Amino acid sequence: MLPPSWDHQPTPVTALAPDPLTPTRDITHAHFQAGDTVVVLKGVAGGELWGESMRVVAPSWHTPTDEDGWRLRDATGGSQSYVTAHPRYLVHLSLRCPDCLIYLRAMEDALLARFADRNELIDCGWYTTTALGQLVHTADARA
Ligand SMILES: [Zn+2]
Repeated sequence: MLPPSWDHQPTPVTALAPDPLTPTRDITHAHFQAGDTVVVLKGVAGGELWGESMRVVAPSWHTPTDEDGWRLRDATGGSQSYVTAHPRYLVHLSLRCPDCLIYLRAMEDALLARFADRNELIDCGWYTTTALGQLVHTADARA
């Protein structure tokens, strides 16, 4: 199954739910490279996973985790078109690689049943963006 359109959705409803997988996901920085199209999963919309698609631009230090991250460009990001994210936040859209598909499937298994009775766009509230353009998962924000 191909992902639905990830962008141009109405304003999401925030429904806090734990992220069962991302904080412990094991993926290397080198798994991604400049030019890749990726999505950061943020919630659920109409029975599908929902997130924001972005393009990988260049390596960049992810200060919230003090680890290597990636600078991303969000074409629909407005005032925050560029953010820096940790590799474990990212899922390939441009490649159908096993590592990312396994994560995507596991996130589907964990989340879709939980929100099966909801049709609106639901943001699970996992991510915030700092004033310096660092995307931070809640699990990484408790430093
Ligand atoms: Zn991948």
